[in-house]
Amino acid sequence: MRISLGDDVEEKNFCYTRNMNIFTAIYFLALIIEIVIRAPLDKKRKQEKISERRYTDQEKTLLGLLSLGGLVAPLIYAFTNWLDFANYTLPVWAGWLGVLITAGALFVFWRAHADLGVNWSPTLEIREKHELITRGIYGIIRHPMYASQWLLAIATPLLLQSWIAGFLNLLVFIPFYLLRVKAEEQMMLDSFGAQYQEYMKNTGRVLPKM
Ligand code: SAH
Repeated sequence: MRISLGDDVEEKNFCYTRNMNIFTAIYFLALIIEIVIRAPLDKKRKQEKISERRYTDQEKTLLGLLSLGGLVAPLIYAFTNWLDFANYTLPVWAGWLGVLITAGALFVFWRAHADLGVNWSPTLEIREKHELITRGIYGIIRHPMYASQWLLAIATPLLLQSWIAGFLNLLVFIPFYLLRVKAEEQMMLDSFGAQYQEYMKNTGRVLPKM
């Protein structure tokens, strides 16, 4: 009979931070950086009067699922052993590739917020003094914030090495993106008409137009 009291104690000490490594930490750091970039704009935009808001139950559900995939599942993965059955291990270079993609995502996220300013909103909204932005990163692609979300969703399975916590984000983001972009472009066309049509001719959605 093997007495393994020592092992059990060790197991207990480690199980709550089992998956908290440099790559998991970088994932959470990226979320914090996003909050810091967004916070000042969020405060300013609330002072602007809204003239139109398109917020459906479908959108509400998808936004809720996005927080589940992007935050709740990663927290469970990092701080419990509940999802450990779905873990995989990648070579270290793959984790660093994830870090590189995350850095790219943060750069695009920052540029997009700097260029869109108070015209940003978490749901589909048009303000009374809404300005159609076609400069900066918006002169190249129409949806840099979603491009940055794509990049982070692609980096996540490299950082969080779990079939659940790594891929849930991507799984939810795909339908969110498809529905959101269609509804958003329709709203922009209804509000800005020919000006937005012209803008569409010169830009791609998340990849530059060749
Ligand atoms: N789709 C953009 C913006 C996301 S924020 C991106 O991915 O970067 C969503 C809000 O941005 C929408 O409610 C809309 O009012 C506003 N918006 C989107 N494109 C815009 C543009 N080119 N100029 C001004 N506002 C825009």
